[in-house]
Parts: sequence; C-alpha cells; structure tokens
Amino acid sequence: MKVTNPKLIISAVAKKQYPEGNLPEIAFVGRSNVGKSSLINTLLARNGLAHTSGQPGKTQTLNFYNIDEKVFFVDVPGYGYAKVSKAQREQFGAMVEEYLSSRDQLKGVVSLMDARHEPSEDDKLMYHWLEYYQVPILVVATKADKVAAGRFNAVESRIKKSLNFDKDTSELILFSATKKFGSEEVWQWLEKKADV
Ligand code: GDP
Repeated sequence: MKVTNPKLIISAVAKKQYPEGNLPEIAFVGRSNVGKSSLINTLLARNGLAHTSGQPGKTQTLNFYNIDEKVFFVDVPGYGYAKVSKAQREQFGAMVEEYLSSRDQLKGVVSLMDARHEPSEDDKLMYHWLEYYQVPILVVATKADKVAAGRFNAVESRIKKSLNFDKDTSELILFSATKKFGSEEVWQWLEKKADV
C-alpha cells in the first residue's frame, strides 16, 4: 500500500477516546527502545511522525494513526520502561490489556523484539498473552542490520524456539530501519490481516 496521508488522530488514555467506526486496526508492541517508532516511520515513509516512546515524564498513551482512511496503526508505548511509577504502570497496563484483548477492530499485532538478543521475559509474556487471545501475531526482529546476514536463520530459529513459536498464529520477519529491509514483508502481512 502506498501511503499518502497518515494522521495521528488521538493519543488515548481511556477507552471512550478510541476512534469510532469500523476501520481495521493493527497494533505495534515492544519494549522501549526496540525500534518501534523507526519501524512505523519506515512503513509510512515518514520521518518523525511516530515519536520515540517512553521519554521521562511523558504520558503513556495509545496513539491511533489513521492511514489513508483504510487502517489504523495503534502505537502501544514500550513496556519495560522503568521510569514511570508503579501506579501509572498498572493503570496503563490495564488499558493496554483491555484494548488488546477486546477490541473488535484489532486484526493483528506486530510484536517487536531485538534481533541481537534472546527475547526478554516481557517479550515472551506478551507473545504468549497475545497467543492466548488468539490475535494474529507478526514478530518483527528489529535492528537486523546489526546481525551478519549469514546468521539470519540462526536468529530466526533462536527467537522461535525461545517463544515456543506457534506457526498457525504467528509469522516472523527480520527488519532493519537503517538498511531498509523487511518493510515490504511487514506491509504484506498487515495488508492481508487488515484486508486492505
Ligand atoms: P522505540 O523506543 O521502540 O520507538 O525505538 P526507536 O525507533 O526510537 O529506536 C531506538 C534506537 O534504536 C534509536 O537510537 C534508533 O536509531 C535505533 N534503531 C532503530 N531501528 C534501528 C535499526 O533498524 N537498526 C539500527 N542499527 N538501529 C536502529
């Protein structure tokens, strides 16, 4: 899909602020600094539309981007971000959980993990949680330019093994925002899931 007019519609802190209507939604989740803004900006061919999440003092919000009136990208702020209070984290966690488990418009979740490392405990929890709710999952292994191309198969196997990967619900793509590879495959996956 060639994107011409992506717009941030709302940074929601509560369910009643979610956009109305029936456009399909694709959510993006991952720990802070994994490369989520870079992935979203690469997909949209825009610099700086999605901002780095998890800056100190910044409110955590679900950011809904309307992509050419066809699909919403929902940027779910990074988990594992330590500098918010426990109460804030719990409140935000409850909203994310509620969104991911019960939003009818949600057609798939892109779950980002760093290609250089084993999936973290939080990555595994998120993956299994999404699996439980039977949401189609695309695992995107980010910063893959930092891995030698000859090791791609090994990286893929390691992540899949660590997640106990379910190939019926999930796919995996290696991605680099720096070297610009993988975005075509991510688009194909989400066009299929969102039916656009
Ligand atoms: P977010 O917090 O998940 O939104 O992460 P960002 O997209 O802001 O990226 C966090 C850091 O990782 C930044 O310093 C980026 O420049 C870097 N980064 C993001 N994507 C890539 C990538 O594909 N390759 C490399 N080498 N660095 C990346």
